[in-house]
Amino acid sequence: MSTESIGVIGAGIVGLAVARRITELFPGSAVTVLEKEDRVGAHQTGHNSGVVHAGLYYPPGSLKATLCRRGVGLLQEYCQEKGLPYDECGKLVVAIDDDERPALERIRERATANGVPDLRWLGADELREIEPHGAGVAALHSPRTAITDFVRVAEAYADDVRAVGGVIRLGFRVTGIRQVAGRVEVRSAREALRFDRLVVCAGLQSDVVATWAGDDPGPAIVPFRGEYYRLKPERTHLVRGLIYPVPNPEYPFLGVHFTKRVSGGVDLGPNAVLAFAREGYTRTTFDRHDLAATLRWPGFRRLARRHWRMGVAEMAGSLSTTLYLRFARRYVPEVSAADVERAPSGVRAQAVDRDGGLVDDFRISRLGDVLAVRNAPSPAATSSLAIAEHITGHLQDHVRPL
Ligand SMILES: Cc1cc2nc3c(=O)[nH]c(=O)nc-3n(C[C@H](O)[C@H](O)[C@H](O)COP(=O)(O)OP(=O)(O)OC[C@H]3O[C@@H](n4cnc5c(N)ncnc54)[C@H](O)[C@@H]3O)c2cc1C
Repeated sequence: MSTESIGVIGAGIVGLAVARRITELFPGSAVTVLEKEDRVGAHQTGHNSGVVHAGLYYPPGSLKATLCRRGVGLLQEYCQEKGLPYDECGKLVVAIDDDERPALERIRERATANGVPDLRWLGADELREIEPHGAGVAALHSPRTAITDFVRVAEAYADDVRAVGGVIRLGFRVTGIRQVAGRVEVRSAREALRFDRLVVCAGLQSDVVATWAGDDPGPAIVPFRGEYYRLKPERTHLVRGLIYPVPNPEYPFLGVHFTKRVSGGVDLGPNAVLAFAREGYTRTTFDRHDLAATLRWPGFRRLARRHWRMGVAEMAGSLSTTLYLRFARRYVPEVSAADVERAPSGVRAQAVDRDGGLVDDFRISRLGDVLAVRNAPSPAATSSLAIAEHITGHLQDHVRPL
């Protein structure tokens, strides 16, 4: 047992899962979660597709693959125990023509290597037995892929932390970090707190906060807004579960998909357009510091030079419902502009290395007594309980026994 005090910055699903796991592993420790917003799950955790990914795409052996597979099992058990929504509605990854079959075959190989259960390869007719309004020549069916409500999951983690004496301080905006005499000082505008250890899970601000603790500026977060449409209630019968395209390996996070929600609705999206503010949920939200930081980052300039055509196409789709739907209609041809309305957007924290490379895997850095999550994109919500085990495993080496 330890009497250490451990701080966690960020009450998103990752920070709360970490705090919860700390209370399990180090029962005597004092855990405090610091969150700048007035509620938990206010950013990525509260603005996503709500899909519990089964682990189809990730390179075998990567953190994403191993933590996703472990995370799904833990999350399913957790949702059952707490009575939280968990609907195994299943997912189709669809090859729209014969050219896409080899890429779909590679996904099947990866998914099999990752241990995704109950996969089936479907021909066009079988595909339509599962999604009668769907199109495509073949599909990979993952019947165990599920949907949930990640904000409710995060709230439940927060309740677990509070139930054993942990503290969640909402409205606490961290403005600085200093490592002094074997302790870590965390400042807000009004006060300074000291901890023995600190874990940074700051999502869209993860690079900024990590550099306060002495970490490198890279990878920097480049915010990409993901815009959604929602099928009007009278058209939700067009989609029964989850319909995904075969991802382009160069842009694995691109590709509008159809997503059933636990509320019963069906969303289309997200696309990916550069956001002019890290927490900018509308096209007109603009933060000159955030935008200047993005434009200054050499990795962003390299990324933009390499991929500007894709960027322009995504922007065009953002401005025009017809263009947006052109892609989606390849998968569900009956969907028209009259069937959809705009739904709330999310912003992805896309970590970009100095050389312009998109950081694909989860990334965590250690700086003395501070651990910083530098990249926790999808499927981090799915994997949150496993990410927490992974991170606290690092802490465990360092927590001093009494
Ligand atoms: C459009 C979109 C769709 C997605 N779809 C899925 C999906 O279907 N399935 C899936 O598994 N994953 C999905 N993801 C990814 C998933 O949402 C994220 O990986 C996950 O929510 C990351 O959680 P987090 O706790 O790291 O970050 P966040 O939820 O962003 O939390 C970070 C927290 O840190 C706080 N913070 C930041 N700076 C400070 C500071 N200075 N002081 C105090 N607090 C601070 C923020 O306010 C925030 O609450 C999606 C993401 C997006 C954007």
